Amino acid sequence: MADSDGVPDLPEELLEALSQQAAEILLSARHVIALTGAGISAESGIPTFRGKEGLWTKHGEPPLNQYQNFMTSPETWWDRVIERRRNPDELSAAVREAVPNDGHFAMAELERLGVLKHIITQNIDNLHRIAGSAQITEIHGNSQWLRCLGCGTRAPFEEIPEQRPPRCDDCGGLVKTDTVMFGEPIPRDALQTCIQESDLADCILLVGTTAVVSPAADFAWEIHSRGHPLIEVNLDPTVITDRCQVAIHGKAGEIMSRIVDKVKRGSTG
Ligand code: NAD
Repeated sequence: MADSDGVPDLPEELLEALSQQAAEILLSARHVIALTGAGISAESGIPTFRGKEGLWTKHGEPPLNQYQNFMTSPETWWDRVIERRRNPDELSAAVREAVPNDGHFAMAELERLGVLKHIITQNIDNLHRIAGSAQITEIHGNSQWLRCLGCGTRAPFEEIPEQRPPRCDDCGGLVKTDTVMFGEPIPRDALQTCIQESDLADCILLVGTTAVVSPAADFAWEIHSRGHPLIEVNLDPTVITDRCQVAIHGKAGEIMSRIVDKVKRGSTG
């Protein structure tokens, strides 16, 4: 059986058993963190990069020297940002329109229940925050913000800056969008929080990620190497699937809602 998008359905009994197992692992851990990727936002209409319908799968990978290009000519890069605001590409247009889906809401609920302590997201779409998650690190930045490369200060990206390239009011440093480019180092504050959280973690929940992008995926491997459980919720099997205690393959929205339902029942006895 497959649903309307051609995603094969897991048999109901298996889905129930796996969701129950995942809930029990979450409830028995002391410090659960999550790593989310583009897949959790797919049901909000934002295309992924990899995976069957991914932008890179369809159109090929982009150049990997974006940051180098930016540093060489920040004015040209800002001209392109402004052009993209007027004429958004497929990804920017989808991010602009998107609203959170059941998967994002389920993650926020897990945090409210005290089960999920932190989300490391590779997404730049702001949807976890809109859904109500507060303990979150956007390791690849957030498209709604600008960031100074000198002092790391962030400011909302509301207006197109008049000065090009814009400079930081505090330190005079070069300002870019917060979204991390290919070749750009991960912002120090974000990396620090990710390291602290993964050091504390005794379970990691991987949702909608191929788990191949470093350093984000490294946290999962590191938690696994300390003998702690990994739970995967993803449309397809990934490179980390066979290291997971529980791997559930299907849509994040439906599966995360099921898991949270079981966590709630488990936490109230
Ligand atoms: P990815 O694009 O590499 O892979 C997405 C994964 O999600 C695939 O394994 C796919 O099978 C799975 N998937 C697709 N639909 C799903 C669904 N409905 N439910 C569950 N899983 C689903 O994503 P990644 O590994 O997170 O790659 C990270 C990079 O992609 C990051 O750099 C990130 O910035 C970027 N990205 C972000 C967005 C966003 O902000 N929404 C969108 C596209 C790409």
